[in-house]
Amino acid sequence: AERGDQVSAASLGDPANAVELAPPERIVVVGGGLAGLRTVEELRAQGYAGQLTLIGAESRPPYDRPPLSKRLMAGDVDDTSLRDELGSLGALVRLGERAERIGDGVLCTDRDEHPFDRLAISTGARPVALPGPGRQRFLRTLDDALTLRETLVPGARLAIIGAGWIGAELATVAVSRGCQVTVVEAAQTPLAATMGQEIGALTAAWYRGAGVELVLGQAVESVQDGGLALAGGGWLAADEIVTAVGVRPDTAWLESSGVKLDNGVAVDELLRSSVPGIYAIGDCAAFWSGRYGRRLRPEHWDVALRGPVTLAANLIGGSERYDPVPYFWSEQFGRMLQYVGDHQSAEQLVWRGSPGGERWAACWLTGGKLVALLAVGLPRDLQQGRRLIESASLVDEGRLADPAVSLREAART
Ligand code: FAD
Repeated sequence: AERGDQVSAASLGDPANAVELAPPERIVVVGGGLAGLRTVEELRAQGYAGQLTLIGAESRPPYDRPPLSKRLMAGDVDDTSLRDELGSLGALVRLGERAERIGDGVLCTDRDEHPFDRLAISTGARPVALPGPGRQRFLRTLDDALTLRETLVPGARLAIIGAGWIGAELATVAVSRGCQVTVVEAAQTPLAATMGQEIGALTAAWYRGAGVELVLGQAVESVQDGGLALAGGGWLAADEIVTAVGVRPDTAWLESSGVKLDNGVAVDELLRSSVPGIYAIGDCAAFWSGRYGRRLRPEHWDVALRGPVTLAANLIGGSERYDPVPYFWSEQFGRMLQYVGDHQSAEQLVWRGSPGGERWAACWLTGGKLVALLAVGLPRDLQQGRRLIESASLVDEGRLADPAVSLREAART
C-alpha cells in the first residue's frame, strides 16, 4: 500500500499535465520570505515580463533568517534585510497583507483580491507553541530576534525548550552574553530526531563545555508565569522562556482551497500542486524527490535560495525537475556543522576522524555509496562529499575513514 501511495504522490502533477496552460500574464507569489523574493527575482531573470505581485504577511521587506540566531543575536548586526532589489524588478509588492484563501483563479487576502494565471506559494513555516499561560518567546522572525536579544542580559535565567538546531544556536549566543542558560529536551540527546542519538550524544558535551545546563529526557508539560512545569511534577524557574521545538508549514489558510496538503503543500518534482497553475517552494512545500523516492520538506535555507530557479522556469512553461541533494549548516558552540544528503535509510555509519575531537565527519553509506555526510569543522569534506553523493560514486571505506586522505580520493575508480 505504501508503494502505491508513493506512486500516486509522485504523479501528483499529472492533472496539470493534462491541462494545457496558456502562457501566464499574471503571476502572484504569496509569502515574502527568501523563497518568495527569489521567485520574483528568478521570474524576471528568466525573462518573464508580465504582471507580478508579491504578497507578504510581515510588514518588513524580505530578510534572511539564518543570522537571526547567530550574528544578529550576538549583536554584530541589527538587520538582515535582503538586497533591496524589489523596487527594480517591476513587481507590485504588498507587505503586511495576509492571504486567507484561494478562489477560482484569485488569491483573496485580508485586504484585496488578486487574480492570477499562476500562483506560487511560499508561506514558509511557523513555530510550534506549547500549552500553558506563561509567556513563551519564539525565534522565527526578525522582530522575534530583536525582542529576544534585549532580554539576553548578564545573569538572566533563560530556559530554552528543545535542543535542536535553533535551541543550540540560541544557547551558544545567550551563554556568551552572560545568561544562565538551561536547555530542556524531551529526547535522550540533542538532535536525536534529525541526526540520531549517537551523534546527538557527542553534541551534548558541547553544551556542558560552554556552561549551558542541558536537561535530557525531560518533557515540558506547560509554560507558566516564571517557569516551566515539567512532566513528572518538576519545576524550572526562568526569567525568559524560548520554545524551540520545531516548526509547521504555514498552510492552514489553504485548508479549503482544494490544494492537496500533506505535511505542507504537496507538490511533484516540477513543484506543481494538485491544482493546475498553483505551485509551491520553500519551507511550506513537501516536494517529491525522485532521488529519494519520497516527499521531502527539508526546512533548509538552500531550498528557498535555489528551488525558485526551477520554480520560475516551470511557472513560465518549463518542465524542469527539482531534485536536490539537501544541504544545511548550523553554527553552535564554536563549531560549524554542515550536512548534505539524506541518511534516513542508510545502511552504515563510518566515522572520519575522531568524533570526540574538534574536526570529524560522519559518513552514511548505502550499497557502498556515500548517501549523507555530517562534517564538523571540515568545509572541504562537505564540498567533496556533496560531489560524491551527487554522482552516486562507490567509495572505499578505509580511505573514507582516514582524514589524511581527501574525500575525493575515497571514490573507487
Ligand atoms: P519563510 O522564511 O518562513 O518566509 C515565509 C513568509 O511568508 C513569512 O514572512 C511569512 O510571514 C509569510 N506568510 C505566511 N503565511 C502567509 C499568508 N497567509 N499570506 C502572506 N504571507 C504569509 N537554514 C539553514 O539551512 N541553515 C541555518 O543555519 C538556518 N538557520 C536558521 C535560523 C533561524 C533563527 C531560523 C528561523 C531559520 C533558520 N534556517 C536555517 C531555516 C531557513 O531560514 C528557512 O528554511 C528559510 O527561511 C525558508 O524560507 P521560506 O521563504 O520558505 O519561508
